[in-house]
Amino acid sequence: MKKDRPLFNETNPINKFLTWSGQQKNRPFYIRYGLPVILVTVATLVKYQFLDYVSLGSPFLLYFAIVCLCTIIAGIGPAITAIVLSAIAADYFFIVPENAFAFTNIAFYKIAIFFGECFIIVLLSSTVMAAYRRVHQVQALFKAMMEKGSEGIVLASREGKRIYVSPSIQRIIGYTAEEFLIMEPWILADPDELPEMKARMEDLVAHPGKNISFIHRMRHKDGRWIWLESSITNLLDDESVCAIVANFYNVTERIILEQKKDDFIGIASHELKTPITSLKASIQLLDRMKNDPPPDVLRELISRAKRNVEKLTALVEELLNASNIGQGHLYLDKSDFVMADLLAECCSHIYAVDKHNLIIQGDHDLHVCADKGRIDQVVVNLVNNAIKYASQSKDIFLSVERVDGMAKVSVKDNGPGVPTEKLPYIFDRYYRAETNSYNNSGLGLGLYISSEIIKKHGGQIGVDSSLGAGSTFWFTLPVELAN
Ligand code: ADP
Repeated sequence: MKKDRPLFNETNPINKFLTWSGQQKNRPFYIRYGLPVILVTVATLVKYQFLDYVSLGSPFLLYFAIVCLCTIIAGIGPAITAIVLSAIAADYFFIVPENAFAFTNIAFYKIAIFFGECFIIVLLSSTVMAAYRRVHQVQALFKAMMEKGSEGIVLASREGKRIYVSPSIQRIIGYTAEEFLIMEPWILADPDELPEMKARMEDLVAHPGKNISFIHRMRHKDGRWIWLESSITNLLDDESVCAIVANFYNVTERIILEQKKDDFIGIASHELKTPITSLKASIQLLDRMKNDPPPDVLRELISRAKRNVEKLTALVEELLNASNIGQGHLYLDKSDFVMADLLAECCSHIYAVDKHNLIIQGDHDLHVCADKGRIDQVVVNLVNNAIKYASQSKDIFLSVERVDGMAKVSVKDNGPGVPTEKLPYIFDRYYRAETNSYNNSGLGLGLYISSEIIKKHGGQIGVDSSLGAGSTFWFTLPVELAN
């Protein structure tokens, strides 16, 4: 590709004409066949007007051009019409004797040669047009792929100057193709990664045909860092490309998920290790005093071991739940039940401890249509979170009301609340909003599981909270059985 020549030049007049003429099949019949009639008539009139200057020795002058034009603009049928009309006009007006149909041998040979030459003209122009249309189609396809795809494409010269930037780049880095085209090279790169990237690029430029791939950071127009996976190929020696071709993919989500997974494995191992260590200690103590265990110590150790086993079971269940939901294995067994009854029943473990007051408010008769077991799981999770993260909040309010044809269930605490900037992520898998080194245990899966359960029911889940103002976690459910 020549330097500084745009890759897709739609403003070029020749290109415009070829695009326009390529749509010949879409033109109405009377235009396609009217064209040869008009052109041959006009050409004949002009030629006749300038008969003194147009030698009678070249009776088909202008008609060749008309045949060629008709082939390009209107197609083969109109071109044949132009040939026949031209032959008639030429024979009548410009072949000696003029102003009469002359069926002499000379006239016959001249017309026969005209037909032969026109055949070649039609063949060549229609072949060129077909080839052009094919190229145009491929170019349009290629352009659509470059512009609409999720991948950004940049072509650069040997010196690093950008020659072409695909419009799709805007979806990746926020800057338009025009803005990015004139931007200083490396200006958006992470300064820490710059020396290594420059060295790799220098090596790439020195080796024609070489390809390198790497993941790096780039500054998005809105100021945040994003992760890109780039595949760059040196095609400077390739005659038809003559550029360094770079393909970019935005892999930020993948990288963040991988980081979250790594964090999660660390947290999960820690969470599982704590009850296992405690359980191990209880068993060791029991083993030591097995022959003569003091009854109160025995009771305490057994109850501690039970608590730890319960904790382990809950953790493993949470992990299994998240894994099943992640694989789309969440099945509902819906029935009709009174929501306030479920709120009263499901939190018996809280009443037993007697540290918190659970206050149930709202419509005590509202029926919902849902999977009772799953909704129990969601409510227990929200209430357990309220106890865990808002331990100072003695009163926890559970309410159920009818809003916009749905049942809305809320769990409100007067705890520390959630910082506003963390709210959008709180239902994400593995997300934990706490800042002070995770004082409370947890896997960051409870709200994710809850939100998937509610979404599966066709409801919504959300939280109204801000730092220091307590939190109200809520969800909605359909009130009637769907047919
Ligand atoms: P886990 O409790 O295992 O961390 P969750 O998905 O249940 O996971 O909760 C995600 C995060 O949301 C918690 O880490 C916590 O920071 C925050 N959170 C949940 N409920 C509350 C609440 N009632 N008050 C304050 N923060 C909460």
